[in-house]
Amino acid sequence: MAFEGLSDRLQETIKKIRGKGKVSEADVKQMTREVRLALLEADVNFKVVKDFINRVKERAIGQEVLKSLTPGQQVIKIVQDELAGLMGGEQSKIQFSPKPPTVIMLVGLQGAGKTTTTGKLANYIRKANNKNPLLVAADVYRPAAIKQLQTLGGQLSMPVFTMGDKESPVTIAKEAIKKAKEDHHDIVFIDTAGRLHVDDTLMEELEEIKAVTDPNEIFLVVDAMTGQDAVNVAESFNERLNITGAILTKLDGDTRGGAALSVKAVTGTPIKFVGMGEKLDALEPFHPERMASRILGMGDVLSLIEKAQANVDAEKAKEMEKKLRTMSFTFDDFLEQIGQVRNMGPLEDLLAMMPGAGKLKGLKDAKIDDKKIGQIEAIIRSMTPLEKSDPDIISASRKKRIALGSGTTIQDVNRLLKQFKDMKKMMKQFMGNTKGKKRKNPFN
Ligand code: GDP
Repeated sequence: MAFEGLSDRLQETIKKIRGKGKVSEADVKQMTREVRLALLEADVNFKVVKDFINRVKERAIGQEVLKSLTPGQQVIKIVQDELAGLMGGEQSKIQFSPKPPTVIMLVGLQGAGKTTTTGKLANYIRKANNKNPLLVAADVYRPAAIKQLQTLGGQLSMPVFTMGDKESPVTIAKEAIKKAKEDHHDIVFIDTAGRLHVDDTLMEELEEIKAVTDPNEIFLVVDAMTGQDAVNVAESFNERLNITGAILTKLDGDTRGGAALSVKAVTGTPIKFVGMGEKLDALEPFHPERMASRILGMGDVLSLIEKAQANVDAEKAKEMEKKLRTMSFTFDDFLEQIGQVRNMGPLEDLLAMMPGAGKLKGLKDAKIDDKKIGQIEAIIRSMTPLEKSDPDIISASRKKRIALGSGTTIQDVNRLLKQFKDMKKMMKQFMGNTKGKKRKNPFN
């Protein structure tokens, strides 16, 4: 998980100041010293750290805190605000062209994740903005790049424009726009060539593509794992191409997070999306203020709710609630619930968005393992319809059959039956307690 070290250290630091009824200048100095070290260790650019600390210090020692009734909280809010500001403040939206097609050019070094991100981004925008994308394979140098984009296009059922590797990328880009107009694609994603290092020939070619396609956005794809290098790469690309945004990939990996915290401050270019995994749906819009609150262990409830809204069927959720109320919840329903939660992505990622996630360290080590969930699914699928709706009839011989059918043990089956029973008991108590009272919607 990205930011883990930074997040741990900052949470330790702010814990000390949180409850304070009075915050002295010495307290602020001590805190900023610790924050400074934590940021430097996370590989944040030293100049960025210096400015950041000065801003926090100035505000924390100033009137803002002195006059506040909860000075400790106020100082934390300042750190949170400044952290969000560092990453760009508000989330920046995509610029669509008023006259279609919108052209989005993706640039970056080889291996940064450009081709994968082209597919992910097109997939995201098709869904979120109801668009009809055309992917363009303009990386004619890396031998497998065209094939890779075609494979991605196949997986996404999205057309890919190629002219092989004999034409120049500039010609390919020009022809692709023509084709997009003919076929009524309202958005075009151009996957350009990368190099191992920034070089002049590459930049000239990208400038030419930019000149002939007049892109609405030029996104630089950078690998978050490369830390300060990512920031330097962003600077060089920005000088030549005036990029409009950065997409940080591999933020699911063990990165210290320095790149995420420095790209905007050093280059002035906002981070628009982050890659959170190799799968085609592992791309998220970047919200600086939510990321700041995640780093400080305050959770990211808004993203969690958005994920739920995008992936959980509202009708089904309503139906499920009714079943829970009337206690007619069966193993079939349980199975469906597991499916819906699974749609939202790995459970660990979801947990990381919960407030106080830092305190759940024990849970992280216990690993909510996808394999275990697969086992639960297998056990339920090995039950007969009657067993699923009335688990009380599951005798010893039935348990043996279910264990055999699901490739598990009788102990596994017993455990699940007990969990299900306990869950129903808990529901009953919960429903009993709230009977007659108006229940609050937790999302309101
Ligand atoms: P390109 O040379 O820039 O086009 O890079 P590719 O798209 O081929 O990606 C290089 C590698 O990085 C591939 O193995 C991708 O699966 C992987 N990758 C891309 N984005 C992410 C991400 O967000 N997380 C992880 N874990 N891997 C990624």
